[in-house]
Amino acid sequence: MTSFDYDLFTIGAGSGGVAGSRRAASYGARVAIAESWRIGGTCVLRGCVPKKLLVYGTHFAHEMEDARGYGWTVDGSLDWGKLIAAKNRETDRLEGIYKNLLSGSKVEPILGHAKIVAPNTVEVAGRTITAKYIMIATGAKPELPAIPGIEHAITSNEALDLPSLPKRVAIVGGGFIAVEFAGIFRSAGSAVTIFIRGEKILRGFDIDIRDHLTSEMTKQGIAIRPGSKVARIDRDGAVLRVTTEAGDTHEVDAVLYATGRSPNTGGLGLDSVGVHVDKAGGIAVDEWQRTTVPDIYAVGDVTNRVQLTPVAIAEARGIAETLFNANPSPTDHGEIPSAVFSQPPCGTVGMTQEAAERQFGVDGVDIYRATFRPMKHTLSGRDERTMMKLVVEAETGRVRGVHMVGSDAPEIIQGVAIAVKAGLTKKDFDRTVAIHPTAAEEFVLMREKVKR
Ligand code: NDP
Repeated sequence: MTSFDYDLFTIGAGSGGVAGSRRAASYGARVAIAESWRIGGTCVLRGCVPKKLLVYGTHFAHEMEDARGYGWTVDGSLDWGKLIAAKNRETDRLEGIYKNLLSGSKVEPILGHAKIVAPNTVEVAGRTITAKYIMIATGAKPELPAIPGIEHAITSNEALDLPSLPKRVAIVGGGFIAVEFAGIFRSAGSAVTIFIRGEKILRGFDIDIRDHLTSEMTKQGIAIRPGSKVARIDRDGAVLRVTTEAGDTHEVDAVLYATGRSPNTGGLGLDSVGVHVDKAGGIAVDEWQRTTVPDIYAVGDVTNRVQLTPVAIAEARGIAETLFNANPSPTDHGEIPSAVFSQPPCGTVGMTQEAAERQFGVDGVDIYRATFRPMKHTLSGRDERTMMKLVVEAETGRVRGVHMVGSDAPEIIQGVAIAVKAGLTKKDFDRTVAIHPTAAEEFVLMREKVKR
């Protein structure tokens, strides 16, 4: 029998890599994990967590305005540098916690870029290490199109660490990152213009989320330019000039590109061992996260399927369960809830109306929708409306999709996602007692189908 240095060697100490490694170690596997940057990865250090802290930090602008309607005298201004410093303290603290978690679970961290040199062998930090299984969890990085002047643009990595707040920001792209940073910069006081090549933001989301969020962002003064392809960026001193293919120019102090993220597959030695990378650039895996090479697995953003932290974690833990706990755990990508931390935020789970209509036919789908002014804003005077929507399969009554734009949408949708995952019906929603007064109660109070 071949003996290996480790049972599992993980490449990449982000959320997926750390979670899978720890789970494997908890079952007695001998595990090492290589990381070429910082322990914690994108979500903890330059993604979800610091982003959400900036969302909290900038949203106080709204809270202070709203407080006036309730009788408060409030006058405050944001010290951007202090916000960034506080955010960095927290991400440093979390990095420390991640390191402790690894050592507490007896996973050996190795700093360095790991390369697979044979099916069960990696080279890292000048060492050659063998392992029975290898798990690739290297994540993804921002993808920038090759247009003239792209070197003047920043990505979400730099946007999280800007030393000062740019007065005018151009954001290119209309996905998660674009709309989240639009909210952060706008609430912090910047003038924000979003350039999207298509007609609407958030492609792939339910049409009512896309339209409602567009309306709310526009009310806040965020300019959204549909059908605008950026052709070039020029620097003129401190000013950046964005020119579209139509020839329009727009002067700003920062240009943020949020045009997708591409898998980190470079320098891993994938070709040499025969790990197949698909057309979209992700490592091809089956439902067990197996690559085309036996004993090599891949999870999370590097597989370019669902680029969401909890999905990477579930995939990686599934591998540990399957390999080290005799608990076969294939990946389940059904009804994955997600949130966009725009201002106001969005929450969504299950099918969009469009997807449901494609599957069940237009007459096979019932739509319930409510748009209303949240109670809080009766006194605050804020002109912000909430949108909530149920997509129901007409024949069975099963709730197939739930979508919301409005305060607390991510918190509310997380709860509702259990009902959708469990396959509950509109009748189950109807017989659930409301909690009053909340916005969430609308989900159990919708009676009238939307007429089409
Ligand atoms: P997305 O894939 O969400 O959006 C990319 C956007 O860029 C789309 O609007 C797309 O337009 C546009 N685009 C792509 N290429 C070009 C180009 N060459 N020129 C102009 N526009 C272009 O990517 P993000 O970068 O926003 O985020 C990456 C991923 O990270 C997300 O998909 C998500 O999975 C994850 N993420 C999740 C978050 C969360 O859970 N809250 C937060 C942040 C990121 P079009 O629609 O026309 O294709």
